[in-house]
Amino acid sequence: MSEHNLPRTIAIIGGGCSGVLVAAQLLRQAQSPLRVLLFERMTDVGRGVAYGTENHEHRLNVPAARMGAWPEDIGHFQRWAAARAGTPGYPAAVEPGDFLPRWIFGEYLRATLAETRAAAAPGVGFEEIKGEVTDIEMETGAVRLRCGDGRAFAADRVVLALGNLPGEYPIRRPLPIYHSQRYVHVPWRQGALAGIPPESDVLIVGAGLTAVDIVLELQSSGHRGVVHALSRRGLLPQVHRPAPAYRPFLEAETPPATIRGLFRRIRAEVRVAQAAGLDWRPVLDAIRSRTPALWAALSWEERARFMRHVRPFWEGHRHRLAPEVAAKIDALRAAGRLYFYAGRLEKLTELPEGVEARFRLRYRPRWQTVKVAKVINCTGPRSDYSKYQHPLLINLLARGLIDHDPLALGINATPEGQVLAYRGGPVAWLYTLGAPLKGVLWECTAVPEIRTQAKSLATRLLA
Ligand SMILES: Cc1cc2nc3c(=O)[nH]c(=O)nc-3n(C[C@H](O)[C@H](O)[C@H](O)COP(=O)(O)OP(=O)(O)OC[C@H]3O[C@@H](n4cnc5c(N)ncnc54)[C@H](O)[C@@H]3O)c2cc1C
Repeated sequence: MSEHNLPRTIAIIGGGCSGVLVAAQLLRQAQSPLRVLLFERMTDVGRGVAYGTENHEHRLNVPAARMGAWPEDIGHFQRWAAARAGTPGYPAAVEPGDFLPRWIFGEYLRATLAETRAAAAPGVGFEEIKGEVTDIEMETGAVRLRCGDGRAFAADRVVLALGNLPGEYPIRRPLPIYHSQRYVHVPWRQGALAGIPPESDVLIVGAGLTAVDIVLELQSSGHRGVVHALSRRGLLPQVHRPAPAYRPFLEAETPPATIRGLFRRIRAEVRVAQAAGLDWRPVLDAIRSRTPALWAALSWEERARFMRHVRPFWEGHRHRLAPEVAAKIDALRAAGRLYFYAGRLEKLTELPEGVEARFRLRYRPRWQTVKVAKVINCTGPRSDYSKYQHPLLINLLARGLIDHDPLALGINATPEGQVLAYRGGPVAWLYTLGAPLKGVLWECTAVPEIRTQAKSLATRLLA
């Protein structure tokens, strides 16, 4: 801590949406001198994994009217984008219900940060630091961040805005193919789809929103072969449909203590909605802001039960496709260019001309073999931080400064984001938000949740 116990320097590690929104909130809320340091190892700040794409086919999966950076003005993004409608790269018009290209949201986050920076109170400064933070030490009561290139920075408080980790390997044992150009482990990396001949086939492991992104990216790059998409249950994300907001329910009730009880209650409400001519979508959306409270009411055993039995269905219903995207996917399936399989990948063999993939299906015929030019891993973010080769996380785990939550979905912390040390209490100067809080809050990785966490976290950091 610095003199007088004032948090004079706040370091944010990670310049994706979470890091940028905390920085913007700090710059907006701070009324006395403050230094905000934002560390990003890869892209321009504001983009992160989701908004770093240059492909215009990659769409937001939340309507523009709900993507604003400020919790008290969620229409801010739509107005910002509408003011640019018709300029190069932007659509001719921007309506509240539009699912805009994701790169536009990256531009918006950068512009919003620049604006708050320019309007910050005297003495409130911001520095963007390119580099990877690999360790944090406590030296005689002072916190010191170390970068991979040897630079060191002192800070009073630190925010881990690390986002999602890349997915698991599709077959969980070391395989020579993982070192081959024919296997892509991180689909968001620049050039991940390079070298795929247009007529050749491709295997995507996973069938969620990332898999859909990859299918669209292949199409827009002129790919004409067949895409095979394999996932455990073969479930595709559902599609968004415009619907009026549903009245909040479960608000005044005691939250159910079991997963069975919770879903019985939700299904009953869906029946009520359907009897009134409504759909299940607004019913699920109506509990979104309540999810952390519902999650908190469940024991860790019940949460584990949710992960085992409900999660795949929940993800597909919660994280939905924009209608334009769903139409493209349907057209590819109808044309015999895209197949979804439910099963498990058993073998990947590299051949001189490609890769042979063998999978065991959940139905007959039991086995399927395909020959493809490339295998792309879209299995969704990995959560178990203790197994991931992230230098900062390895060092923080070794120092006992962080621990994973009991389900190993993220970092153990209080619901407010204060990190809990390994077998210890809260670390006074260390906080997190976004994906690392998944075990604690469950619903915490999309913009509507991140903007609220960023605001309250900034208030706590400045308190
Ligand atoms: C493909 C995709 C599409 C999505 N679409 C939507 C959408 O339409 N709407 C929505 O609301 N949400 C969407 N999401 C959810 C998304 O997770 C959030 O909206 C948001 O982008 C998460 O931002 P983040 O900053 O928490 O994580 P990230 O975007 O992962 O950013 C974390 C950043 O931290 C950096 N970093 C990590 N470790 C270090 C280190 N040690 N030192 C320095 N830098 C480090 C990384 O390089 C990265 O840039 C999408 C997610 C994905 C993956």
